[in-house]
Amino acid sequence: MDRAIIIGSGLGGLECGFILAKHGYEVTVLEQGKHIGGCLQTFHREGFLFDTGFHYVGGLDEGQSLHPLFKFFGLLDLPWKRLDEDCFDECVFVGDGRQESFPFANGHGNFVKSLSAIFPAEEDGLKRYAAALKDIGDNIFKAFGGNSIGEAFSKSAYGFLCENINDEKLRKVLSGTSLKMELRQDTLPLYVFAQINNSFIQSAWRLRGGGSQIAEKLASKIVEMGGKVLNRTKVLRICEIDGTATGVEAESEGEKLMLEADVIVSDAHPAVTMSLLSESKSIRNIYRNRITHLPDTYGMFTANIALKPGKLKYLNRNIYVNRTDCDLWNPNDSKTESVLAHFYVPEEGEYATHLDLMSPMAWDMVSEYAREPRGRRGEEYEALKRRKTEECIALAEQRIPGLRDAIAQVWTSSPLTYLSYTGSPFGSAYGIRKDFSNPMLTVMSPRTPLRNLFMTGQSLNLHGMLGVSMTSVMTCACVPGLEDVASEILL
Ligand SMILES: Cc1cc2nc3c(=O)[nH]c(=O)nc-3n(C[C@H](O)[C@H](O)[C@H](O)COP(=O)(O)OP(=O)(O)OC[C@H]3O[C@@H](n4cnc5c(N)ncnc54)[C@H](O)[C@@H]3O)c2cc1C
Repeated sequence: MDRAIIIGSGLGGLECGFILAKHGYEVTVLEQGKHIGGCLQTFHREGFLFDTGFHYVGGLDEGQSLHPLFKFFGLLDLPWKRLDEDCFDECVFVGDGRQESFPFANGHGNFVKSLSAIFPAEEDGLKRYAAALKDIGDNIFKAFGGNSIGEAFSKSAYGFLCENINDEKLRKVLSGTSLKMELRQDTLPLYVFAQINNSFIQSAWRLRGGGSQIAEKLASKIVEMGGKVLNRTKVLRICEIDGTATGVEAESEGEKLMLEADVIVSDAHPAVTMSLLSESKSIRNIYRNRITHLPDTYGMFTANIALKPGKLKYLNRNIYVNRTDCDLWNPNDSKTESVLAHFYVPEEGEYATHLDLMSPMAWDMVSEYAREPRGRRGEEYEALKRRKTEECIALAEQRIPGLRDAIAQVWTSSPLTYLSYTGSPFGSAYGIRKDFSNPMLTVMSPRTPLRNLFMTGQSLNLHGMLGVSMTSVMTCACVPGLEDVASEILL
């Protein structure tokens, strides 16, 4: 039986492990952390369960983007909760004592209809916009294999928005729910913007009970198929002989392990994968340097908030509150200009029990505390997090009246926390920044110069549950003998 080693148990690693186990490989997943899942990890505080990365997905209904993938991975029967179809995301602008709110509805027709009711002169533009998102979303998988929508890789998302929408306010609205990606006028490619927005317009879902269920389900299937999933096991080095990856050296609770493999898939950030190949004779410096120095997307600050019972109604939608004067396409992640409020689905009743507030946070704001271990970063760092929490609450409260009074307790995490728990360099939320002016550099092949070593995960092509799942299939399709895996799953 051929052996496969997977480095990292994020969604990408576990899905690749699942596919390879299903195709007869003896799979071992190695995870450096205490818990599996990477950005799917959850944690408990005072009896409340919080997510770390993943919060909601799009496209789960039959015929939609994520459905065939999650069907194949056996994830459809988790307790998904559909968000309000007439407003799954609410985009809010606040400033100068004014507040404006715009609903994002499910279904491309409804999406256009509800925004055209507010911006009637833009109905045609909205139709073109929604049709283009759908076209790119429907064809994105093929596009990575061929060239049917090659333009979306080298086209600016912001340019696309300006081409189709004349009204400046509507442009802001269509950009105002985009903390699910890093909006940047000078880099964000259309394919990232379109694929993500399209899947949420299809349908939007929270997962009752947290994202770790996804990781646990995939891991238990791998084990059922004869594989192993080992936590607290850090890969230190990828071994090679004559240009072929042959195994890894790892460390588990102080003990060194040597594991041999016929196929190795790394779900670690590509720069981390390069660090595991520092002695490689097959990786040329030009390749290593290129990958190691690609810029990353911003990190995230999260305030995990426990609420007093019976104080705040559960909202079955996400609320994105933006300052009217902020430039969404040139975000200033040193300031709190936008915040996403995500409510956890309560066990029962109409009141919310806990919620998260998320806002981008610059690495520079926390980098000086990186030298200190978690929990001992000092009063200055704690004060910084308190200040950021206060800014997030003040912004969110403008749309969620009574929020502050309803708060029982707050816990926080910064990009430093993400660095500690997922190994993502600079605590980047969505991995390597994609650049439409340089798609050849930032859209990466799962193949590496080392035979039998492949990469997967959010930095390669696309981030998020959908993007990483598609990338897992693309990665496995590069393994000799598994070339048809995409048609098996997606057709
Ligand atoms: C704050 C935040 C909110 C998000 N919200 C959403 C959302 O609502 N919806 C959505 O679809 N997506 C969301 N995302 C994105 C989504 O969570 C990620 O794109 C996805 O989970 C990344 O999976 P991955 O497998 O690529 O990487 P990761 O989850 O980062 O996993 C990589 C794993 O590799 C391990 N590893 C690294 N190096 C080694 C080593 N040397 N040895 C062993 N193990 C190693 C790490 O410990 C980690 O567990 C969010 C992300 C963040 C940060």
